[in-house]
Amino acid sequence: MKYAIISDIHGNLEALESVLAEIGKEGVDSILCLGDVVGYGPNPNECVDIIRERTEVTLAGNHDYAPIGKLDVSYFNLWARSAIEWTADKLTRSSVDFLMDLPLKIDLDGFTIVHATPRNPEEWDYINTIGDAALNFPEFSSQICFIGHSHVPMAVHLNEKSDHPLVSKKNPLKIKKNCRYIINVGSVGQPRDLNPKASFSIYDNKTKVYENFRVGYAVAETQRKIRNTKLPEFLAERLGEGQ
Ligand code: ZN
Repeated sequence: MKYAIISDIHGNLEALESVLAEIGKEGVDSILCLGDVVGYGPNPNECVDIIRERTEVTLAGNHDYAPIGKLDVSYFNLWARSAIEWTADKLTRSSVDFLMDLPLKIDLDGFTIVHATPRNPEEWDYINTIGDAALNFPEFSSQICFIGHSHVPMAVHLNEKSDHPLVSKKNPLKIKKNCRYIINVGSVGQPRDLNPKASFSIYDNKTKVYENFRVGYAVAETQRKIRNTKLPEFLAERLGEGQ
C-alpha cells in the first residue's frame, strides 16, 4: 500500500488543495491525516469537509480538541489561544461532531500514527531532539511511528544494536530492516522550518520507501483571508516566512 501522510493543516485551504493535487499525481492507495485540521487558518470548516471526505484515518491534534472544549485553552500561547477562540466561534455543528470523535493514536499496517508522541499522546509533548526521540522509541511496538505537531519534517532512526537514535538525512529514505524510525511528516498549512512550502509525505510499505515532499501554494491568498478576519496579523506573516 502506498500511503500519503499529511498533518497540521490548520484551516489553510489553499495549502491543503495544493497538497491534494500533488498527492493525486502520485497514485496513492490511502490518505492518512495526523491531526490539527483546524486552528490558526481562515477556513476550518472547508478543511474539515475535505479531510472527512478524502482520508481513510484522521487523528486528533491539540488544535482539534481545544475549540470543541476537549482541551483547556490555558495550555496555549496568546496567538494560538485567540485563533482557537476564533475557530470555536466559526465551527459548524457538523465540524464539531467530526472533531469530537477523532482518535489519538492508531496502529496500521506495520506502522503507528500519532499527532504528538507515542509515549503520552494526550500530553501533547514535542519530539524536537534526539533525546526526545530516545524516550519515545520504547513506547510503540511497530517499526515506524509517523508524527506531526512540531511542523518540522524530520526522520530519526534507531539501529537494533544501539540505544542512541540518529537523524536520517536521506530523502527519499529507504526503510532498513534492522532499524526503527520516528518520522515527522511536517505541516501542510503552517510549516515552521523556514521553508514556506506545504509539507507532506508518502510511504510505500511494499517498497519500504519514505519520501517527504514540498509544494508551493497561494500563500498571499491565505494571508489575505487571515487579514480579513480578527485572527492575529502574526499568523499571516509567519506563513510567508515558514515559521
Ligand atoms: Zn499543529
